[in-house]
Amino acid sequence: MLRVLVNGADGRMGSQVVKAVYEDKELEFVGGVSVTSIGEDCGELAGIGTLGIPVREGLAKSLEDIKPDVVVDFTIPKVIFDNAKIVMEHGIHMVVGTTGLTASQRTELGKIADEHKTNIFIAPNFSIGAVLMMKVSEIIAPYMPDAEIIELHHNNKLDAPSGTAILTAEKINDARKAAHAEAAPDKTHESLEGARGAKVDDIPVHSVRLQGYVAHQQVLFGGYGELLTIRHDSLDRKSFMPGVILAVKKVGSHPGLTFGLENFL
Ligand code: NAD
Repeated sequence: MLRVLVNGADGRMGSQVVKAVYEDKELEFVGGVSVTSIGEDCGELAGIGTLGIPVREGLAKSLEDIKPDVVVDFTIPKVIFDNAKIVMEHGIHMVVGTTGLTASQRTELGKIADEHKTNIFIAPNFSIGAVLMMKVSEIIAPYMPDAEIIELHHNNKLDAPSGTAILTAEKINDARKAAHAEAAPDKTHESLEGARGAKVDDIPVHSVRLQGYVAHQQVLFGGYGELLTIRHDSLDRKSFMPGVILAVKKVGSHPGLTFGLENFL
C-alpha cells in the first residue's frame, strides 16, 4: 500500500483527491494538510464520512510525523515551489497538480529531485481528455498553423492563463516550428490593450473567468476558407482523479522530474 498525504486537503481539488485515494485499494490516505479547516476531519470534508484524520497545519512537521510515500499537492500558485522543495528535501515523492510553476522553477525542482534521489511529477492538467486535446493540437498545428486558444474557468481560479493553455500553446508552437509552418500575420491594431489576448509565443490566449465554469478550453485553428475547433470540458473535478491516481502510483518509478500526464499514459 502506498501511503499518501494530501496538501490542500480541504480544497476543491484536494478533497476530491482524499476521496479518490481513500477509495483506491492500492493506496492508503494517511494525512491532510492545509492552512484552513485545521482540526476538521478530512473524510467529512471530502463527503466520505469520518476517517479520524484531522486536517493538520505545517507541511514539514506533518511529513516528519506521518512519513508518507507520496504527497499530492493542490494548493495555490504562490506556495507550490516551496511546498515541492520541502517534500523532496524529506526524500518523499511529489505529485503536483497546483498550477503556476514557471519553466525555470520546474527545472530547478528537477535538480532538487535529482539531488535528493526523489521524484516529482507535475501536470498542468490531469484529465485524459485535456491531454488528448493537446496531442491532437500538436498534430493539427503543422497543417493549420493559425491558432488561438480560449480557456474558460470558474472565477475562483487564481492564475491566468491556465497552465493547460500555456502548455497547449507551447506544443502548437513547437509542432509548427518543427514543420517550418508559419501563422499568417495578424494585421489588427488593438484600440484597447489586451483585446487580442495574452501571447504565449505568438499564439493569442484568452482567459474567461465566470462562476459556473469548471475547466474548459477551445483551440481554434484557421485555414483557407475553413476552421477547425477542438473543445474540451471538465464538467466535474472528478474528471481529474483517474489521472491523479495514475500519477501517484507511477511517480515512484520515474526518476527525477516528469512533466505532463502524457508521459504516464
Ligand atoms: P482551492 O482554493 O479550492 O484549494 C486550495 C487549498 O489549498 C485551500 O483549501 C487552501 O486553504 C489550501 N492552501 C493554501 N495555501 C496553503 C499552504 N501554504 N499549505 C497548504 N494548503 C494551503 O483551489 P482548487 O480549485 O482546489 O485548486 C488548487 C490548485 O489546483 C490551483 O492551482 C488550480 O489551478 C489547480 N488545478 C489543477 C488541476 C490539474 O489538473 N492539474 C485541475 C484543477 C485545478
